[in-house]
Amino acid sequence: MRYEDFHRRSIVERDAFWAEQARLVDWEQTPQVICDYSRPPFARWFADGTTNLCHNAVDRHLPERSAQPALIYVSTETGEERTYTFADLHREVQSMAAILQALGVVKGDRVLIYMPMVPQAVFAMLACARIGAIHSVVFGGFASVSLASRIDDARPKVVVSADAGSRGGKVVPYKPLLDEAVRLSQHKPEKVLLVDRGLAAMELVPGRDVLYAELRQAHGQAEVPCVWVEATHPSYILYTSGTTGRPKGVQRDTGGYAVALAASMKYIFCGQAGETYFCTSDIGWVVGHSYIVYGPLIAGMATILYEGLPIRPDAGIWWSLVEKYKVTAMFSAPTAIRVLKKHDPAFLTKYDLSSLRALFLAGEPLDEPTARWIADGLGKPVVDNYWQTETGWPILTIANGVEPRQGRYGSPGVPMCGYDVKLLHESTGEELTGPNQKGVIAIDGPLPPGCMQTVWGDDERFVKTYWSNFPGRMAYSTFDWGVRDDDGYYFILGRTDDVINVAGHRLGTREIEESIASHPLVAEVAVVGVADSLKGQVAMAFAVARDAASVATPELQLRLEGEIMKRVDEQLGAVARPARVRFVTVLPKTRSGKLLRRAIQAVCEGRDPGDLTTIEDPSALDQIRSLMQDSV
Ligand code: ATP
Ligand code: MG
Repeated sequence: MRYEDFHRRSIVERDAFWAEQARLVDWEQTPQVICDYSRPPFARWFADGTTNLCHNAVDRHLPERSAQPALIYVSTETGEERTYTFADLHREVQSMAAILQALGVVKGDRVLIYMPMVPQAVFAMLACARIGAIHSVVFGGFASVSLASRIDDARPKVVVSADAGSRGGKVVPYKPLLDEAVRLSQHKPEKVLLVDRGLAAMELVPGRDVLYAELRQAHGQAEVPCVWVEATHPSYILYTSGTTGRPKGVQRDTGGYAVALAASMKYIFCGQAGETYFCTSDIGWVVGHSYIVYGPLIAGMATILYEGLPIRPDAGIWWSLVEKYKVTAMFSAPTAIRVLKKHDPAFLTKYDLSSLRALFLAGEPLDEPTARWIADGLGKPVVDNYWQTETGWPILTIANGVEPRQGRYGSPGVPMCGYDVKLLHESTGEELTGPNQKGVIAIDGPLPPGCMQTVWGDDERFVKTYWSNFPGRMAYSTFDWGVRDDDGYYFILGRTDDVINVAGHRLGTREIEESIASHPLVAEVAVVGVADSLKGQVAMAFAVARDAASVATPELQLRLEGEIMKRVDEQLGAVARPARVRFVTVLPKTRSGKLLRRAIQAVCEGRDPGDLTTIEDPSALDQIRSLMQDSV
């Protein structure tokens, strides 16, 4: 089928289209109402249906594949490696569900999961889904303040946590961070369930803290049936990465999410039941929710849960897992590929990757040099996909399961089924229909199944934040800036607040970054707009060299800066040329690997960088601060 026809039908014959997709999952009560959009922008998908996410991820596969692998756990931090079949997973999830019930959790209660990448984290997510509890996974290792604000927002009855995580061989104790967070928060969880990995000593709070191993003994054989819930029952709350400010609590439904994930597995990832999927993300992010846990399992695939770095014991570790477990679809992020790029490309060909059909990448702009490096190195197609915590699954990508086609470098692709994507003029809200016009990427309602229902506990913030940005038009704003070519392929130019205005020219930071990153000596780069009394704003670039020796002296730095500027002049024109290109060893990023441009910009302008609770390495900002101080 032509992809355009498939997509058009998903919009103009919306209900018929999604009623068909709904058959990809099991229902206790099959929905008759496909989309209730009587109160825009709130969409109620499959409103009168009842189902269960855990049933769809685990139980329904038991008759056919109970002895097949479901969850493959690999930790290069502790050396643990273990495969759980669907039958094993079913057993573990029931035990965990019984434990949560014993701790008082009932349908609708929130359970906050603050865990390293261990199987019990996945058991806990699925156990919540099984009994209708709402999970909120908070990235393990987040500082106490970030955790406390999420505890106060989600108000969990129970917190599931562990003694510690481990990163690059270094133990990161979680329990003290959790205790401090609970001390800081207004809301107090009733119980804390702790998995003791034996990595760090734990002090238990009497009456509150309980040990998983002990309860697992008591509930090891428990049978806990799935609780059928309304399709619109919230399955989880997940906070956005906080790249642009205070994180938003995204509330996801159950039925729409199950259908959207099943459709994405079929049309985008082309995963078949019985195969293995490997997503290198973390369960603390949306990519981990959708494509470590729910998506592959719903599709009947085995999923790899990997704890560790991409370069330990060496930069071949991921590819060795592809070979060993015959991975057919792999999902990672450009930031991880840029890490691998600093290592020997021979690792990419060291293992037998014949099972692998494609590598999917998402999370931030995929620059052409990085895409080419990994695509050529692996000899596999690389598929970019663009989406957000809010949407839960890709907005833009290539649906090879509908109609195979070549992607385009620099473009994540075309709108996925159900997404009525528009480019809108940022101030007038006018729709830009011509090719190569720059605008804000927006989506006309209703958002397709699987997307956020609302901001947790704050319908008003949902409407105000996302749906009130264009005069005279209620459309969902992605807050990303983009352009569409003649053939309908979209290109992301950066976030709306990352647009630079140099002497009246509007430039996306992404365009300039892409140009700079095409220099062979550059590993990665961040470009921000900095206030300038003459031009309004000027672009400032901070780059990491691929090889430290190439920027070891001020002379070498100046020479490379000159080369980079020349390149930008040639590719984009002198107006895009950064005022300076400075060299750093590390760029400030969120824990999920996204560039913190707003923080860089604030530091460059001598302002307070604001909410930094999600920053990976605070010293990265210090490097920029001291460079800026040197230059004045
Ligand atoms: P916050 O909303 O709290 O500021 P965030 O936007 O970084 O944080 P996420 O939902 O994790 O939180 O990230 C989604 C954003 O990541 C998108 O809006 C877009 O800016 C960027 N992004 C994701 N995938 C891609 C991609 N394939 N190409 C370009 N940008 C991408
Ligand atoms: Mg965002």
